[in-house]
Amino acid sequence: MRIAERIEAEALELAVLGVRDNGTELNMALKAEPGSAAGTFRYYAEALDKVAGEVAPTAADVLGLVQRAPVGVVAAIVPWNFPLMIGAWKLAPALAMGNSVVLKPAESASLSLLRLAEICADCGLPDGVLNVVTGSGAQTGAALAEHMDVDVMVFTGSGATGRRLLEASARSNLKRCYLELGGKSPNIVFADARDLDHAAKVSAMGIFRNSGQVCVAGSRLLVEASIHDEFVERLKAHAEALKVGDPLDLSSQIGAVNSEGQLAANLAHVVKAVAEGGEVVCGGDRILTETGGSYMAPTIVTGVRQQASLFQKEVFGPVLSVTPFETEDQALQLANATDYGLAAGVWTADLSRAHRCVARIRAGVVHVNTYGGADNTVPLGGVGQSGNGHDKSLHALDKYVDLKTAWIQL
Ligand code: NAD
Repeated sequence: MRIAERIEAEALELAVLGVRDNGTELNMALKAEPGSAAGTFRYYAEALDKVAGEVAPTAADVLGLVQRAPVGVVAAIVPWNFPLMIGAWKLAPALAMGNSVVLKPAESASLSLLRLAEICADCGLPDGVLNVVTGSGAQTGAALAEHMDVDVMVFTGSGATGRRLLEASARSNLKRCYLELGGKSPNIVFADARDLDHAAKVSAMGIFRNSGQVCVAGSRLLVEASIHDEFVERLKAHAEALKVGDPLDLSSQIGAVNSEGQLAANLAHVVKAVAEGGEVVCGGDRILTETGGSYMAPTIVTGVRQQASLFQKEVFGPVLSVTPFETEDQALQLANATDYGLAAGVWTADLSRAHRCVARIRAGVVHVNTYGGADNTVPLGGVGQSGNGHDKSLHALDKYVDLKTAWIQL
């Protein structure tokens, strides 16, 4: 609780530390980073006395006790897009369940988590319970993954790194690995959606906030053919109205891309999409400013076919692919036609259709007539190559305990 209070008291400083590292627009960072991290620490502090053991219904002459024991040492490796928020999703439940943690931030976004560690120490967390090690993935991250004394590895990042962690676990001590990976999340707009302009506005933020560097970004728009042109026009209007610029300026709606390397990769995805038959209807290029910086215009590419790279591969940038469909069955087939399964959106006024889509879309999170909802009480995680295990909610606690049983003869 004290940690949550201190995060709130230093919210602006913590948010600015993160923005200087990763370029996220400050107005969003304030809510998503310290705002969310404080809530996460408070949520798991409040959960402490709600988690208890069990007495199993065994035969009457014996007691079967089921206890939740700390796993020991948890290693947490986190990415750069929301370091404080994602770091808190791992740290707070791991500490609450009685473990010690070694946390490795991304090499391009370590500052806010280093400050959080100081805050935790100031708040009385005993020495050695939380340790932050900075450094590259290939060196520091790999050392943690191979370590024989790490009992559980929790990770958010790319699928390629997730695979390496599983290999390292198999080579070393078979540590449990929980992976939160990327996505290519479909956002399906049916012609019967109640308010197409609202759907377009929310869908635009669903892909473009934090320059598209959001794991659940709705990066694949599937739109019913009868409203395709009208909907793309509305989306384009919202995308072009977004103010992209200095992330520390509170009037900026979109900040900078994390690095020059990431910006170059985003632009290369657009070039490839065009070569594969797509049409850029807005954006597609870097935004030049007097101060320099890696800014990219919100980009919409239409005519993206199922086989195209932009349909299948995560960009992790402000690039939306658009594909039309004719029927609900075709929309669902397209929605499920990638290796990922993190999030999805469905826009419709038909309640039965909404439920059918929730049931048939293969994803950890399905939004209906909204995009990007979040609360500490609701788990977040994916299926398929988007990962396993969940952050947030009481379910996350299971990752940080072993079930230990005791048989007591009466
Ligand atoms: P990344 O996998 O390159 O890096 C993530 C972390 O892993 C960093 O701390 C990095 O240093 C470390 N790392 C890299 N190589 C490693 C290795 N060989 N051994 C151990 N650690 C290593 O990913 P990124 O580019 O920082 O993040 C972007 C990716 O994260 C995207 O794919 C995105 O979708 C995903 N992501 C997922 C979620 C989610 O909740 N599912 C949330 C945010 C981001």
